[in-house]
Amino acid sequence: MIDPPKHAAVTYSVACVQRPNAFAPSLTSAPWSLAGGIGVGAAAQQCGPQALVRSTATPRGMTDQPRPAQCCTMEAGLYVHVPYCVRKCAYCDFNSYAIGRQHTQPYVEALLAEFRLVQRWLGVTGAIVPAFGTAYFGGGTPTTVPAAQLGSVLRALTQAFPLAQNPEITVEANPGTIDRAYLEELRRAGFNRLSFGVQCLNDRLLKAIGRIHTAQEAVDGVRWAREAGFDNLSIDLIYALPGQTVADWRDTLERAMALQPDHISLYSLMVEPGTPFWRMLAKGRLNLPDEDAELEMDVLAQQVAEQHGYERYEVSNYAKPGFRSRHNQVYWHNGPYLGFGAGAASYWDGERRTNVRLPKAYIQRVAAGELPVEDAERLEPRRAAGEMVMLGLRLLDGLDVREVRDRFGVDVLWEFREHVRRMSDLGLLEVRGTRLRLTEKGLPLANEVWSGFVI
Ligand code: SF4
Repeated sequence: MIDPPKHAAVTYSVACVQRPNAFAPSLTSAPWSLAGGIGVGAAAQQCGPQALVRSTATPRGMTDQPRPAQCCTMEAGLYVHVPYCVRKCAYCDFNSYAIGRQHTQPYVEALLAEFRLVQRWLGVTGAIVPAFGTAYFGGGTPTTVPAAQLGSVLRALTQAFPLAQNPEITVEANPGTIDRAYLEELRRAGFNRLSFGVQCLNDRLLKAIGRIHTAQEAVDGVRWAREAGFDNLSIDLIYALPGQTVADWRDTLERAMALQPDHISLYSLMVEPGTPFWRMLAKGRLNLPDEDAELEMDVLAQQVAEQHGYERYEVSNYAKPGFRSRHNQVYWHNGPYLGFGAGAASYWDGERRTNVRLPKAYIQRVAAGELPVEDAERLEPRRAAGEMVMLGLRLLDGLDVREVRDRFGVDVLWEFREHVRRMSDLGLLEVRGTRLRLTEKGLPLANEVWSGFVI
């Protein structure tokens, strides 16, 4: 007989994550015997690269004092993937497919069935399921699905996996797929954060990259979202687009600031294998800005965002005070999350699981009563620690290496000492006490710093 999952509406602690099949919930006031203390004072400074000493006990500079709850609690997240788009953008290599004339109902039913399967699976594993702080509907384009269907998915999701108090519930929206009534229905259904894929506010460039919407539709969408009651609104912008000048980018940034979003994600275009842009690049037909122009756009993005009161808190993300993305922080803190839908990934109980990618195969697997998992992998401690460092270094605050030690038993400053020393000597990485973070100089070269932690 299968036991139902046990739900515990309490905060989830880092220290719990690593114990197999034992997601013991921790109250924030619980003793933090597995956690280290905050690195302050002279002793903590000794943990820099100048003091790389191997230690099987508490590494130097790390104390076993109780740690204040805010530095070692994390939320668990829920992710729902919608793999449909109106059509594929020329740069996109996400797991998404042009929807054509398909109905979304079979996919929606598959999602509901997967919730039940995962709920049962968690019961089998004996896991105690925490209340989830965030839910995120991403894609693809979730807003290709009728609002009533998205609402029913959210209802079923939160019945199966209860949310904590004051959850962040995000849905991604493409400005070419929504109107005011649609957004009002999403808001009534319980979504409280909207992430708009604006990408740029220049019709010539939007067309060139294959977007289905105009700049004005994006502007209207943001206004309708506010009118519908979304008081937590994010927009995505992409720069270094083919044919884009620094002046174009400045214009998009200024117009985006006028929309007054609470959060902005700013990405430079990556030309990915298998995309139309990749093929155009191979044929010499993609007119990308040169490196100097891209760097100028990068600097400009940061300047304009900061001038308008946005804090850069992650390599590509800026927020007004109080509006950092809680869901993405689950990922960057290497926290636990359950992913549902075609190609969705989960990180749960120290194991990474990925669902089958193709929507049709996903629907068939779930209809047959099987978990639609294609890959499951439990990383060995050194690799898991390296990945946690890589994720944590995306945040401008960086990470505390004691959290890595607490979870994986790996002393990062020893295991990766040569890379840490080299990056520090180059001025790309700062080691202060037990905290590692990218320097200003290291931010544009983040890939180089990260790569040394995942080998
Ligand atoms: S809308 Fe987003 S997910 Fe869909 S094709 Fe364009 S970039 Fe990809």
